[in-house]
Order: sequence, then C-alpha cells, then structure tokens
Amino acid sequence: MPGGHTHLFVPGPTNVPDAVRRAMNVPMEDHRAPDFPALTLPLFEDLKKVFRLDDGRVFLFPGSGTGAWEAAIQNTLAPGDRVLMARFGQFSHLWVDMAERLGLDVVCCDVEWGAGVPLDRFAAVLADDPSIKGVFATHNETATGVASDIAGLRAVMDSAGSDALLYVDGVSSIASLPFEQQRWGVDLAVTGSQKGFMLPAGLAMLGVSDKALDAAAERRGSARCYFDFADQIRTNDLGYFPYTPPVPLLHGLRAALDLLFAEGLDAVFDRHHRLAEGVRRGVHALGLSLCAVGPQWYSDTVTAIQVPDGVNGVDVCRIGYETYRTSFGGGLGQVAGKVFRIGHLGDLNEVTCLAALAAAEMVLADAGAKVEFGAGVAAAQSWYRESGTRPAERAA
Ligand SMILES: *Cc1c(COP(=O)(O)O)cnc(C)c1O
Repeated sequence: MPGGHTHLFVPGPTNVPDAVRRAMNVPMEDHRAPDFPALTLPLFEDLKKVFRLDDGRVFLFPGSGTGAWEAAIQNTLAPGDRVLMARFGQFSHLWVDMAERLGLDVVCCDVEWGAGVPLDRFAAVLADDPSIKGVFATHNETATGVASDIAGLRAVMDSAGSDALLYVDGVSSIASLPFEQQRWGVDLAVTGSQKGFMLPAGLAMLGVSDKALDAAAERRGSARCYFDFADQIRTNDLGYFPYTPPVPLLHGLRAALDLLFAEGLDAVFDRHHRLAEGVRRGVHALGLSLCAVGPQWYSDTVTAIQVPDGVNGVDVCRIGYETYRTSFGGGLGQVAGKVFRIGHLGDLNEVTCLAALAAAEMVLADAGAKVEFGAGVAAAQSWYRESGTRPAERAA
C-alpha cells in the first residue's frame, strides 16, 4: 500500500474526526449501570438542540437512516393510509418504495431528477384530497445534490388546511444544513449517524413532534416491536434502552455533539455553504454542469456533477479509487454512469475541498475528458480567499 491517506468524498459515511474516533475507543461497559444515564440523558437533550426541536423527543435506534424511515412510518401510519410523496432521486425513490411495501396508499409526484419537492403540485393534491395522512419530503436528495424548501412545504400544508403529519428525510442535511424542526412543523425528522454527525453508521435518529407522539400513542401505527416508540419512551426516560445500544457510538456521539456546539451550529451551516460554493465554482470553471437544474436547488452537502459526453461516470469513480485512493460518490439509479458526486459534509475545510477538485481534474482527464488543469482548483481558491476571514481581519 502506498503512503498517505485515502480520501473519502462520498456523501456518507463521512470522515470521522480524530476526537470522535478516540472517544469511541472504549472498553465495553454495562449499559444497565447506575451511571449510564449520565451519558445518555444529556445526549437526548443535546440532540433536540441539533434538530431544533423544543417539544417532542428524539429517539436513537441501533440502525441506519433507513431504519429511522421505517420507525417513522410504523409508529404513526397503518396500511391503507394515504400519503403524499415525491420522487426525484434514488433516496426519495427508495422511500416511496418502502412506503408501498409497508402497505401505504402512496400518491407519488414524479419530478425530473435535478429538481426537488414540487410545492405547487403538493398544494394541488392537498387541496383536492383531505384524506392525506402524511406528507413526505426528502430535504436533501443525496443522489442528485438537490435541497428542497421544507419551510415552504409547511406553508403549503397550512394554507391547504392539511392536518397530515409532515415526514422529512434529513439524513444528509441535519447537522450540516439549516434545519428547524419546531419552526417548520416537521413531525418526524429522520437521520443517521454517518453523515452530518461525523460518526460511523449505526445510529438511526428521529426527532418526533408532540403531535406525532400522540399519533403513535393512540397506536394508530402498524404492528411494530423493535421500532416501537413506546418501549423506547419507557426506558429512555430513565436513561436506558429497551435492548442493547451501541455504546461506543454513544460516546462518539457525545464527542461529535461537543464539536458541533464548540463551533456553533450556525457556523457549521455557514461553513458548509462556503465550502459547497467553492466546489460549485470549481465545477463550473471546468465547464461542467451540475445535476441540480437551478441554483434554488443547490445542495450545500453534496454536488452531483454531470460527466462530459463520452466519459463514463463509473470510470471516474473507479479511476479515482484505483489510481488516487480517492472515493467519489457514483451515480445512482436513473443517473448511474451519468454523474459523479463530491460529498462535502461533516468534518472538512477549504483544503479538503481543494483536494477533491484537484483529484477530480486528474480523474476526469484520465477518463477521457478535456480538462484545463488547475481551472477548478483556482476558482475555488479565489472564492475561499474572498469569502473567508483574512489574517488581517482575524488579528483585528
Ligand atoms: C444516506 C441516505 C439515506 C440512507 O441512509 P442509510 O443510513 O444508508 O440507511 C436516506 N436518505 C438520504 C437522503 C440519504 O442521504
């Protein structure tokens, strides 16, 4: 194996900061011990701060983001319930697929991949159909690099007088993009540990509103056991879990939350925006287009880039990995082979993003594209210098 680091630019799992990795390196311990709640109770409180949830509560299940999806559905909806969803990328597609397999009656709006939640079409459906019990939105579609307007969706639901629960997939947005569960009236917000939280996969996280907790308590949901909110509530209130939790991940979560709060959540969001903007400027300077069809859809956590004609996106990822020990995200589903993705969320800074662009330039050239070396890197460098704090300002 040659020297140096491998470089991970997939949009999850993201890079784990050293402090988080060290925090997880603990001997196994007794998860029924009297002092275990000293670890867990503050985690629940602090997670609510990240979800920006005042009421309600946060759940942690051993699982990935997909498990959080399933928990959200199984606790609050029953087979036959009608729900409104949109499909515009691989993750929103998979959520629709899950809802159908769990027996929900899905009204699905298909949208061109590259755009996001179609507020006007949702408004029309909600106005027509008061039987809709759940409205689902993928906040950040990781397959296409598209972010949707959740505050706008809440406004649409309110003006339609909809009483439905609002379900939001925040797997690649929460802790990286501004997310306001309470203010946006999100009833079930789901995420996983391996993206904005900078941890390995293994924790499925849900922020759940009081309204959704009431729906779950009335046992309106489907048959459920492992994912039952009620079992969690009984034990979580005392700082425990109904079954064995992944204890090292909980220590890692403590360290990750400390990092997020030390930087400040708003500063974390600003950093993601600045870094993403540099990547986009670099991509445009190389003459390439994004998968996102307009700036209102741009995601600050992942950029999906259309490969030029005659270049295969699968080759881009393979060459990156084999030649430069650099992983980019591949194209998924409908855009397989047509795009590659640079994940820019979690533990990263300007130079991390410059490295991604430098590697992308070489890889694209190797895959047969015409590339002006340095053009993408230079555009990002200019942006980072002009938008960042200069040494003189820092001293002042
Ligand atoms: C990663 C991701 C998922 C899937 O999460 P897993 O943790 O892999 O189950 C779902 N939705 C979005 C938007 C994602 O980015």
